[in-house]
Amino acid sequence: MNPSPPDTPWHSQDTQQVLTSLEVSDRGLGADEARQRLERFGPNRLPQPERTGPLKRFLLQFHNVLIYILIAAAAGTAFLQHWVDTGVILGVVLINAVIGFIQEGKAEQALDAIRNMLSPKAMALRDGQRRTVPAEELVPGDIVYLQAGDRVPADLRLLRTHNMRIDEAVLTGESVAVDKKTEPVEEAADLGDRTGMAFYGTLVAFGQGRGVVVTTGADTQIGRISTMLGEVETLTTPLLRDIAIFGRWLSVVIIALAGFTFAFGYWLRDYDLMETFLAAVSLAVAAIPEGLPAIMTITLAIGVQRMAARNAIIRRLPAVETLGSVTTICSDKTGTLTRNEMTVKSMVTADQTFEIGGVGYEPHGGFALDGQDINPDEQPVLAEALRGILLCNDAELQQQEGQWKLEGDPTEGSLVTAALKAGLNQKQLNEFFPRDDVIPFESSYKFMATLHHHHENQHRFLYLKGAPERVLAVCAQERTSDGDREIDQDRWQQQMETIAARGQRLLAVATKEVETDHNALEFSDIEDGGLTMLALCGIIDPPRDEAIEAVQQCREAGIDVKMITGDHGVTAKAIAEELNIQTAGGVVTGQQLEQTSDEEMVQMVREVDVFARATPEHKLRLVRAIQANRQVVAMTGDGVNDAPALKRADVGIAMGIKGTEATKEVAEMVLADDNFASIAHAVEEGRTVYDNLRKAILFLLPTNGGQAFTIVAAIMLGLTLPLTPVQVLWVNMVTAVTLALALAFEPTEPGVMKRPPRPPETPIITGFLIWRVVFVSALLVAGTFGHFLWMERQEVAVEVARTVAINTLVMGQLFYLFNSRYILEPVCNREGLLGSRPVLIAIGVLIVLQGLFTYAPPAQFLFGTAPIGLEDWGRILAFGLLLFVLVEVEKALFKSRQTRL
Ligand code: ATP
Repeated sequence: MNPSPPDTPWHSQDTQQVLTSLEVSDRGLGADEARQRLERFGPNRLPQPERTGPLKRFLLQFHNVLIYILIAAAAGTAFLQHWVDTGVILGVVLINAVIGFIQEGKAEQALDAIRNMLSPKAMALRDGQRRTVPAEELVPGDIVYLQAGDRVPADLRLLRTHNMRIDEAVLTGESVAVDKKTEPVEEAADLGDRTGMAFYGTLVAFGQGRGVVVTTGADTQIGRISTMLGEVETLTTPLLRDIAIFGRWLSVVIIALAGFTFAFGYWLRDYDLMETFLAAVSLAVAAIPEGLPAIMTITLAIGVQRMAARNAIIRRLPAVETLGSVTTICSDKTGTLTRNEMTVKSMVTADQTFEIGGVGYEPHGGFALDGQDINPDEQPVLAEALRGILLCNDAELQQQEGQWKLEGDPTEGSLVTAALKAGLNQKQLNEFFPRDDVIPFESSYKFMATLHHHHENQHRFLYLKGAPERVLAVCAQERTSDGDREIDQDRWQQQMETIAARGQRLLAVATKEVETDHNALEFSDIEDGGLTMLALCGIIDPPRDEAIEAVQQCREAGIDVKMITGDHGVTAKAIAEELNIQTAGGVVTGQQLEQTSDEEMVQMVREVDVFARATPEHKLRLVRAIQANRQVVAMTGDGVNDAPALKRADVGIAMGIKGTEATKEVAEMVLADDNFASIAHAVEEGRTVYDNLRKAILFLLPTNGGQAFTIVAAIMLGLTLPLTPVQVLWVNMVTAVTLALALAFEPTEPGVMKRPPRPPETPIITGFLIWRVVFVSALLVAGTFGHFLWMERQEVAVEVARTVAINTLVMGQLFYLFNSRYILEPVCNREGLLGSRPVLIAIGVLIVLQGLFTYAPPAQFLFGTAPIGLEDWGRILAFGLLLFVLVEVEKALFKSRQTRL
């Protein structure tokens, strides 16, 4: 097929004409043809927005006031021909930039990988079969199925629509969804009036349909006007922004302090001008926690990556923080708490109850009546019901490599399996009774209906399948082996209770004959009633083992788990009990919710954990009510109508497998495996990230403080500087930036899921945190300074005294890194001391670097260090240990006082 000119007026052409010019049959494209076209037309992808190039990113690392000051200092030293200082300062600037560049790149990469995990899929017809394909692989000529909640994956000429409305706001700015038809429109019609087209990137708001791809990628309407849809996420969250602001304030204070120190030293203490200037600059560099934002970003990126590895894909970074303070999780039942591997186990007609053997989608298993195997063909009512559930069905089972695979909805898949077990043939049946029209299933009205006719005559009828109370409400008769009779609603109710009490999902099927000229299905066809009830199906969907565990874990973590399901109340209760979700408060149904005012609901959600027969609107009201109790809510959802509830929740969670694009787009997080356990894992990781952010602060600020106050104290007291400016730069580089990085990789602390959620309004910089910073800073200053003064008394060369002082400071930081692994828990155990490889590596590297710094002649030349003896190391080590012990004692005291962090 040759490419069509870009302005082909597909919208004004007849559908048949479009199919002919795209050279596609009603079986869709063949796999080979699709591959060839993909090569010719290229992937169906919009041009990516321009990224900042590596060179620019590298140069941006220098765009920082502190670096400017350092460069000015380097220029000053160069002017005075202190070449060694110049070299060291520039070296530090460069190395810092390289570290920053690499770290930032890593964080970006982590997020990119996650973005790619969410690439959209499309349902296409290939070789006569529906296949889920990556939207990027669609080519002109592909026939694509659309339903409510889908993003249109390319520009399509619609071939069939059913009540289809599309929200085209992204393209036309028009917020009212447009009714879609298949008829051609005038060639001159505006984009918004081309009702026979569905455009790339627009959202199916209602109904379903089918269309043929006419253009892909950059040639689509949206491709011509824009690049990638949606914003590219920046690497920040409210917390990080707060920290950045805090950092900026701190910098201002420190620069003022440095200025004051400079003035004080120069005028009052008569230090040399250049020496004081350099001391003031190194003071600023040492005191400003310039590594903090980078480490925070990396901690966050690592957290996001860990969550992705545990199947929770974060779409909006602030969610990582919010997850740590979630107090209530509202979850769907089907597929999230349960396995979504459905099997029809029983079918009840008006006068008989059949049991069905087998599990899963494999159509092996027979039918039994009163314990005796039977032939379903000989049971007319059962046979008719099976026909109904097979015709009123969009799922397909395919056998691939001996495995039965389902394309479509699992509930429907289980019905197909049941029908196949009875020997029915889906394809033949569909040819025998072609479908004229359909009302697709929606969880807001909970049924699906199809209209059929006999292929040889005009005999027309409809099948309705759905939630039993919906179906029973429109049935006037019931079918028995002896013909139809008036329906006995009470008996059906009893049957429902019996099946539901076993935790089985319920679904009813009914039928009605219609006039021969009736070829479109309306809601009124159902609502007018007069249907004949055929059978009730009991479908098992066992709870996931890991969900049972995760519910337990959440309860220990002080998180309330609520189940909000579309399923029947009794089924919901039985499953909730298996999952250990509280049912003491009773099960509230959607109907009851309708009669509850918003105020009453606020009270109700405090006691009730199971909501059944709930619709998406109920979910929205429930989120609001729970939030009114000052709870932080995570809420799952999959259908297009769940989007408002997800948006409203503090953490909206969409399903990666069965969820619609509409929900994925509003969600903060997407579950790759649709599994409840992944939510619990994400909460655990969320708490870990928050802990690690605090640990980074708890570690960095005292090390900065220790360095800075040592210098300030020396100048104030008019003493020899215990650390020269270049030495300060060195220490800062090797410890503050690199050592702290190890904390970003900290694994989850034991017991993280045993403590209550963090109140969302707690500030990150608490009183405790300030105390710890001051305490450790003071210890470091005392050790470094004390040791320096003591060495001076021994009348050693000042180089030796300084080298001892620096190593004391570094050793103190090294031991404090161990302390910082747990905020309040003791680390004097195997896990605490040896449990983190990054910490051990960082320490190993630091010891080597300090060795070189002390003993390597080039370092001695550059930094003015001198070799020190074993005894000196003994004292240095003793100080490190002392600091370590003191911090552990401080932790124990705080912990025993049960201080709130
Ligand atoms: P959850 O909301 O926890 O995922 P659910 O899947 O049971 O639970 P819905 O999808 O809203 O919730 O389904 C509600 C009811 O609608 C089901 O109990 C079933 O009786 C009926 N139902 C489900 N799927 C279909 C379908 N494809 N066709 C017809 N009826 C269906």
